[in-house]
Amino acid sequence: MAWKDDLDQFMTGLIRRNPGEPEFHQAVYEVVANLFPYIDDKPIYKDAQIIERLSEPDRIISFRVVWEDDEGHVRVNRGWRVQNNNAIGPYKGGLRFHPSVNQSILKFLAFEQTFKNSLTSLPMGGGKGGANFNPKGKSDGEVMRFCQSYMTELRHYIGPNMDIPAGDIGVGAREIGYMFGQYKRLTKEFTGVLTGKGMEFGGSLIRVEATGYGTVYMMNNMLKTNKDTFEGKRVAISGSGNVAIYAAEKVNQLGGTVVTLSDSSGFIYDADGIDSSKLDYIKDLKTVQRGRISKYVEQYPNAKFYADKRPWSVSCDIALPCATQNELDHDDARELLKNGCIGVSEGANMPSSLEAIKLFQEHKILFAPSKAANAGGVAVSGLEMSQNSARISWTEKELQRLLEDIMSRIHDQCEAYGRESDTYVDYVKGANIAGFIKVADAMLAYGAI
Ligand code: NDP
Repeated sequence: MAWKDDLDQFMTGLIRRNPGEPEFHQAVYEVVANLFPYIDDKPIYKDAQIIERLSEPDRIISFRVVWEDDEGHVRVNRGWRVQNNNAIGPYKGGLRFHPSVNQSILKFLAFEQTFKNSLTSLPMGGGKGGANFNPKGKSDGEVMRFCQSYMTELRHYIGPNMDIPAGDIGVGAREIGYMFGQYKRLTKEFTGVLTGKGMEFGGSLIRVEATGYGTVYMMNNMLKTNKDTFEGKRVAISGSGNVAIYAAEKVNQLGGTVVTLSDSSGFIYDADGIDSSKLDYIKDLKTVQRGRISKYVEQYPNAKFYADKRPWSVSCDIALPCATQNELDHDDARELLKNGCIGVSEGANMPSSLEAIKLFQEHKILFAPSKAANAGGVAVSGLEMSQNSARISWTEKELQRLLEDIMSRIHDQCEAYGRESDTYVDYVKGANIAGFIKVADAMLAYGAI
């Protein structure tokens, strides 16, 4: 098969051109392993080198961020914005503030974002940015000074019709507020240049909930194809940030029982279920007190805390990895399957390793890759942009309907391109091909640029 040689040759070149960037190699491989066979009989895409062009970012901006801590010491971090592709709309994608952030991670995220945004069917290209700054343990004043310094440089490269960042790990409502304020101060403009804004200054209802809710809607849509529901299902969730909390909320609403949540220090297991009042406690613990998940067991002594462990060893029907990349490896996947897991929907970006995905596919369980499963967040960000442009605000009911419609359409596109038999859909293949076609066709229309 000629495409196998093309794929090998392409990956060898990609790894040579992007040394020391394993996350980027992994994300590209996950996509192109499906695209090379798809375009094998489509010379129009092959001749125009669409895959080669898509995996070379339009540009990468890297800059110094200098700020002062509470003791008056000068601190230096590195900031980035990776603008991957704007064929179908202005660059769009979050900002991540975490000590692990590097160019490889942001390139993988910007690449993924291009396909994800295409799947939403909204006019948004793909980008991602961030800094190797750790907001944990910093005072509000320190976070504010960092955000202001970061935006002082970033503002040269973004704009409401050019590039519209949003939140991601370590960037929530507080950070978006500081950055939007600085952008407004420097440009003297009040425009929708960021999404995830506060409701007082152009934010959208349900943006906070959208990624977690969307991840659960995706799983619900997959369950429906097997005439199944969330009712009575035990659900293991990782993370306890924005995505995890609202995924848990939606699982509860649909009749499932959430048994785990986690953070980088370990996970909690609550066999009785983390119901809505317990979730309220976690929301306060995480977003107001900025505390650790281990505190949960002081409040609810029936639950157990497992330090330095991931939640994939517990017995569950469904797993929703909602923390970070590569948090679910081959051994975790084997444990999940052994314990009866029938479905995985990825709330985080690329949480499952390639080996874990392969195992899920071999066992033909329901598996939704992140570019489809967590697209609800950027979809509502797109709706926030529409509301900002039109200077209107839609109601919660209207936005809920739009989010559910978008997630259903994403599911259906994945099914259309990924159905392998009467009983099995390869959602990874479906998402990759469906996401590719729109971007590729737009690139063809522009000629060789
Ligand atoms: P938050 O910062 O709100 O929460 C992140 C959670 O993941 C925290 O509980 C954090 O624990 C945990 N975590 C982070 N890094 C690690 C690690 N290395 N090991 C174990 N746990 C870790 O981020 P979000 O909830 O916004 O994002 C979570 C994931 O979802 C990311 O992959 C993000 O890219 C993706 N995503 C987010 C969207 C959004 O709308 N927010 C949209 C689409 C995707 P701790 O506090 O200990 O660090």
